[in-house]
Formats: sequence, C-alpha cells, structure tokens
Amino acid sequence: MSTTPAAAPAPGPVPTPLARAAAVPVPPADSLAGRFPLTPNPSAADDAARARALRDLHFGSVFTDHMAHARWTRDGGWGEHGIIPFGNLSLSPAAAVLHYGQEIFEGIKAYRHDDGGVWTFRPRYNAARLAASARRLALPELPEEDFIASLVDLVRADEAWVPDGEGQSLYLRPYAFASEAFLGVHAADAVEYYVIASPCGAYFPHGLQPISIWVTREYHRAGRGGTGAAKTGGNYASSLLPQQEAAAQGCDQVCFLDDVTQANLEELGGMNIMVVNADGTVRTPRLTGTILEGSTRSAIITLLADAGREVVEDTISLEGLLSDIASGAVTEVFACGTAAVVVPLGRLKGEGFDVSIDGREVTRHIHDRLTSIQYGRAEDPHGWMYRLV
Ligand SMILES: *Cc1c(COP(=O)(O)O)cnc(C)c1O
Repeated sequence: MSTTPAAAPAPGPVPTPLARAAAVPVPPADSLAGRFPLTPNPSAADDAARARALRDLHFGSVFTDHMAHARWTRDGGWGEHGIIPFGNLSLSPAAAVLHYGQEIFEGIKAYRHDDGGVWTFRPRYNAARLAASARRLALPELPEEDFIASLVDLVRADEAWVPDGEGQSLYLRPYAFASEAFLGVHAADAVEYYVIASPCGAYFPHGLQPISIWVTREYHRAGRGGTGAAKTGGNYASSLLPQQEAAAQGCDQVCFLDDVTQANLEELGGMNIMVVNADGTVRTPRLTGTILEGSTRSAIITLLADAGREVVEDTISLEGLLSDIASGAVTEVFACGTAAVVVPLGRLKGEGFDVSIDGREVTRHIHDRLTSIQYGRAEDPHGWMYRLV
C-alpha cells in the first residue's frame, strides 16, 4: 500500500484494500436471501402505528419490528442465523463487552427509490470494514456475504419501514460484541452479531446547515497502533468528554489532531474531513492508521476525481489550514459520513483562533451528486448501488 502522495498525475485515486474489497461483485439479493430465516414479530406495529412512527423522523430513536442475529462460538463458529422480533437482549452481567469493550459496529443506509425498490450503497465496503474491525478487536470475522445477507433479510422483513420522503432512509446498524460471561481478560469465546434498523429523516431538512467545530488540543481520538482505524465503540466513548468540551465552547462537534505531532488534522468524532482549495483541488487527511476510512470519504474522492478535480490525500496541519483560510487559499471545509452525508464546517474554533469559512459550492455539489446516486436519480457509474428489495 503506497502512502506517499503520488506526484504523477494519476487519473483517480489509488484504491485502498477496503475499496478493492468493495469492488468485488455481490451476488443478487435473491440468491443471498434466506440465510437469516424469519421468525415474525407477533406484536409488529400495525399500519397506523407505523405511519405514526414514520411521521416525524429524527435520527436513531425509532426501530423496526425485527432484527438480524447470529451467534458465534469458538467451538462451533457462526450458527443460529435469524431475523427475530426486535426486543431487549438478555445478557449475563458478566458479559465481557460490558467490562472490556470488545465491540465493533457499522452504519449503512437503505434508500427507497422512485420505482419503489430499496437499495443500499456499497455493502461490501461495510462488510470488509466490519471484518477489518473484527481483526483489530480480536472478534471473529463474519463472512462478507453473510453480512450482506443479514441486510437483505432484515430489510425484506421490514420493508414497510423504509421511508420514502426527501432525504429519508432506513439506517442499518450492524454490530458484534463479546457475550461470553467471564471476567478474565481474553478474546471472548462467545460473540453475538445483530443488525437493528432505524428509519431516519433528512439530516438537513432545510438545506445544508454549516456546523461549528472545536479543535481540541487536549484530547486525541486515537493513537498510533491503537484502534482509530477500527469502528469500535471505545473510540466513541473516549470522544464524549471532548465533545462536551466542544459544546461548552459553543461548538457543535469536536475535531481531533494527531497524537504524535499534535499539529495535523485527523477527523471529527464520527466523520472524515475534506478541504477545498481556491484552485479547485481538494485535500483530505491521509490514512495514517489513526483515521477511520469512511465509505463516504472514499466515494467522494472518486466522484471528485470523476469530475476532473485533483484530490490529494495529504498531511494537513492546523496552522497551514488556518493561514490558508485567512489568505483565501482554502474556500470550503466539510465533513462526511453515512449518517449526515456531507456537512459544511462554517466555523473553526480552538485555543487562540476562531475563524469562519463561507464557501459552500463544492460541498453542495458533492452532496447532491452523491445523494442523487444513492436515491437512484442519477446514473451509478461505479456500480455502487445494490438492490435489497
Ligand atoms: C463511521 C465513521 C466515519 C464515517 O464513515 P462512513 O463509512 O462514511 O459512514 C468517520 N469517522 C469515524 C470515526 C467513524 O466511526
């Protein structure tokens, strides 16, 4: 894997291992369906209750009638796949995840297209990333096609929950954790995998709204050799205190610097960042092992390159960025991730600085470009969309 920013004018980005994994074709949903057999929820919401639940959608507080589940044991491997009624878990108070945090997760959406079909975006990317996170957290890898089958079977069971309003989607949250009841510290011998689904509204119902960012110097999200490149709950746990500090500073989100030089931008607590230069080129922090490799980041790099823009994965120092904003060499900064898609960063604040950034043109363009592919309103030149139903 090459990490030096190539000087050669290569047409488009060099695919990372995750992007290469994501490019392997996925068998059609009909041939994966049924790997997670359905046990219907006897108290599923009726049409009226579901319509009520879908009326005023926010993020992550309403859940569908079912969930996917699979259990793994060291002796038996993955067994007991199923789609089961959504409900509380029964877990030993000694379950290892509650003590040592051995957990990983994913986030991916299902989109209702105008023809009524339900599609998802690059599911093999998330499947491969869950497997990569599993390796780092010493959890078992779920086979990629079982991961995708769990999405197919869950969304087919709960299809009526996929909303069709502007910017709405069904957010899917796959996760796996150590369920073994044992207080000794070891990689657990029993692991549960679940997928829950939550209909969610447009992140910005009234058009893109800029958010403000507190750049923390006191805390880091990740350290060299740590778990920053894995999607694991612990990274989020450690970001909550700095997030409170950001709120106390009047900011919406926190941005982290790298822990070695303490000078270079990494990412927000749950979104990658991109910097648009006045000359039209775009930069994003290089994947150093402490940054989570976002599916949205990857897609945006490709779409910008498609549009003829030079995209550089680079070291971006805070000091350099502040002086580029002051000089006008940087015109836009935005964050990206599955939940929010694209978010303009309108203000950067930290000890000794407080600057605003007004440009939105590239941010808006890339938001519209990506969402029109996801909602089936534009051609999908890279074959990213996958039909679930
Ligand atoms: C999930 C996540 C992202 C965004 O990844 P997407 O695949 O684009 O949703 C970025 N940073 C962190 C820390 C994350 O956990």
